[in-house]
Amino acid sequence: MSTPTNHQEWQTLAETLLAQGVKADAYIEGEYRPAVSGERFDCVSPIDGRVLCQVASCSLEDANIAVKSAREAFDSGVWSQLPPVKRKQVMIRFAELLEANKDELALLETLDMGKPIRYSGAVDVMGAARAISWSGEAIDKIYDEIAPTAHNEIGMITREPVGVVAAIVPWNFPILMACWKLGPALATGNSVILKPSEKSPLTALRMAQIALEAGIPKGVLNVLPGFGHTVGKALALHMDVDTIVFTGSTKIAKQLMIYAGESNMKRVWLEAGGKSPNIVFNDAPDLQKAAEAAATAIAFNQGEVCTAGSRLLVEAGVKDELLSLIAKEMQAWRPGHPLDPDTTCGAVVDNQQLDNVLKYIRAGVAEGAELVHGGSQVMAETGGAYVEPTIFSNVSNGMTIAKEEIFGPVLSVITFDGMEEAISIGNDSIYGLAAGVWTSNISKAHKTAKALRSGMVWINHYDGGDMTAPFGGYKQSGNGRDKSLHAFDKYTEIKATWIALD
Ligand code: NAD
Ligand code: MN
Repeated sequence: MSTPTNHQEWQTLAETLLAQGVKADAYIEGEYRPAVSGERFDCVSPIDGRVLCQVASCSLEDANIAVKSAREAFDSGVWSQLPPVKRKQVMIRFAELLEANKDELALLETLDMGKPIRYSGAVDVMGAARAISWSGEAIDKIYDEIAPTAHNEIGMITREPVGVVAAIVPWNFPILMACWKLGPALATGNSVILKPSEKSPLTALRMAQIALEAGIPKGVLNVLPGFGHTVGKALALHMDVDTIVFTGSTKIAKQLMIYAGESNMKRVWLEAGGKSPNIVFNDAPDLQKAAEAAATAIAFNQGEVCTAGSRLLVEAGVKDELLSLIAKEMQAWRPGHPLDPDTTCGAVVDNQQLDNVLKYIRAGVAEGAELVHGGSQVMAETGGAYVEPTIFSNVSNGMTIAKEEIFGPVLSVITFDGMEEAISIGNDSIYGLAAGVWTSNISKAHKTAKALRSGMVWINHYDGGDMTAPFGGYKQSGNGRDKSLHAFDKYTEIKATWIALD
């Protein structure tokens, strides 16, 4: 079937898919099975409050079975010892199959977490496929090292897969975050247990079947849906999980470090929260472009983006002009039905998240920020969770809305004078994930970029990058990097083998 082109066609495809039944059981050892406890939880669509299916709620018992399966698969060598060129072929096939199933996966993503269908295929599924193929393509092109030794010795420095990796991922880009982990984890030969968010398990569960079809052997990829405090915690405390890779909140990231310390000191790699400054200087080359980027940086994916440009730092001289341009741009981001291809801003993930966002909007008002755009829940009659993109002006960096990650479409506009103040406000955050810098002055651009304590800086741009660029943060935004060859560090141990020749 060709890709639907309008709301009605997407709705029809959704009904067909739901009538057939979607994958809602855990995926262990190459087959779908209910949780050992038999427990299930409702998968509720934030589009309209409809219950889509009941998903297996995994816990410790399921984690134990999955870890055993992953360990056996790893030790058997069926994947871990496959020649890299063979793993590459399977990964490329996996990516092709993700792409071939793009519409179905996109639909599952949109139904499950409310993001607009115009992005869930083109951005999420295609990005996920790219992460798998890029990692696969790289794996037979990376060489190990030989140390510069004396003539009668050989020092080999080799990389080996860590073993059993548990990947715990969030709900904002479910399939994409999963594949940022799966790509390098599988390419380097590990076995993986994927724990999707309880708020968005559907694409991960469907993807498991696609992976098997592509030739990922059973046991090498297991998917355990369920809650963080049950199955997530069980994996993080498990004595036979070698590495945890995580994307999610800073609060849970810290908890995972504790679990690792309380158990087997498993490696812990964390992509956590952000409160990224997007800095616009008076000499920005193109204010209209900066305004478009600033609007996108807070409204895309309903603001549920770790790199959201949630603090707009604007130099006093261009503040009024920039703000009015952004307000105009926001017209293009009015919430709409996520299955309508014209919709740019969909539903937030659930009612709890909606309440959270509204709570922050009230805090902004209460603390004296000036509400200049949006601020309200909308489309309540649909039964879904929608909120207007919201702009607060006259925000000071000490206010709650400037300090805490809202993870919704709420922009805090903060005024500054000069580069020093911009850098100081920009860095005044517990987070250090990303930053934008808009200026025509090349030395100011570089000086600011260097001074910002953040893992990613975009100059005259926001949210740039592809698989070639590492992604991750400083400070409480996490450690390690996703994407690029740097991501492979998380999934490999380094072995030094020293050989005496006489
Ligand atoms: P979350 O931390 O609540 O949950 C993330 C995952 O952790 C989920 O799968 C959840 O079930 C699991 N979890 C929760 N409690 C757990 C526990 N005690 N033990 C083990 N696992 C547990 O985050 P979220 O609300 O799903 O996602 C939003 C957060 O993710 C935001 O803070 C956002 O900034 C962050 N994020 C970061 C990046 C990045 O790359 N830096 C990317 C996307 C999202
Ligand atoms: Mn959901």
